Amino acid sequence: MWVCKDCFADEEICKEVENNSTDEGVCDVCGKIGKRCDISVFTDFFVSVIHLFKSDINSQDTVISILEQDWHIFTDVQYARTILAEVIRVSGLDIKLDDKVSYIDDIAARASVWEQLKTDVKENYRFFVDHDKFDEYAELFSSSTLKENTLLFRARITPEGQKVLTAKNMGCPEKGKATAGRANPLGIPYLYLCKDEETTFYEVRSVYLDRLSIGKFRIQRDLKIVDFNSKFSLFVSYDGTNSLSDTVVKKKILEAIRHDLSKPLRRYDTELEYIPTQLICEYCKRNTADGICFNSSLHSGGVNYVLFNPDDAKCISVVSREIKLIQITV
Ligand SMILES: [Zn+2]
Repeated sequence: MWVCKDCFADEEICKEVENNSTDEGVCDVCGKIGKRCDISVFTDFFVSVIHLFKSDINSQDTVISILEQDWHIFTDVQYARTILAEVIRVSGLDIKLDDKVSYIDDIAARASVWEQLKTDVKENYRFFVDHDKFDEYAELFSSSTLKENTLLFRARITPEGQKVLTAKNMGCPEKGKATAGRANPLGIPYLYLCKDEETTFYEVRSVYLDRLSIGKFRIQRDLKIVDFNSKFSLFVSYDGTNSLSDTVVKKKILEAIRHDLSKPLRRYDTELEYIPTQLICEYCKRNTADGICFNSSLHSGGVNYVLFNPDDAKCISVVSREIKLIQITV
């Protein structure tokens, strides 16, 4: 069966199709004309992928729905169906594409390390919680560099009677006075910044007619930032020997932490809710990171940064903005 790169959404698979193209013609899967390669190039990979799942009558998902949701390998569900059916046929696997499945137990068990740690630090131990089991996933916390002179933003609601806050007032509270947040513990200030100005409007929870002071901050040196938005590709991690389940576990843990980091604070949340994410931030800090970044859950496409040392960014200017329109959708 011929496949072409247009069948796949995973960039690395697309490259592999190009590298293995021996022919030009009609793709048997999507019908496009162009470079194509034989599906046998990917058979072993997809057999390993299918082995990540077990039959589960209590699940609502199929192999295809999970691959679509978690890994976005194919450009179309129908292409996924055609390709996987061929892999199952030539490999003689005992599975049907409409079978209800979930990830194998080993994955679910290992991916629960974050949930266990959360319970532990909230309910059992506070300062000597056992985070050693996280060391196994230390590479999860891979970092990227936030370059010196990068500009980031921070908003504060301008108090009644003031035109705009000064640059000096745009930073975080001093040590000992900081309230607890998703990332920082009580009394230990971290600087919360956003990649663009618009995201700050959402992050500060502004309401109609609020006046905001928007500070522009310049990064003072190259910073090591743990990126909770890292993307994983099953295909990249597959080399024929390594277990793909490791990659699934890592993705699941990172996603769960990211979800908790970006979860909006609700009125009835207690500070206890922040403890696990504070722990993870401190774990990153102990492992020599200068900060973290993660997607904003309040503004699609926005990215939040948390710097552990507030002096690593300097406020260089402040402008005033007024919220003129709020759109609410339900
Ligand atoms: Zn195709």
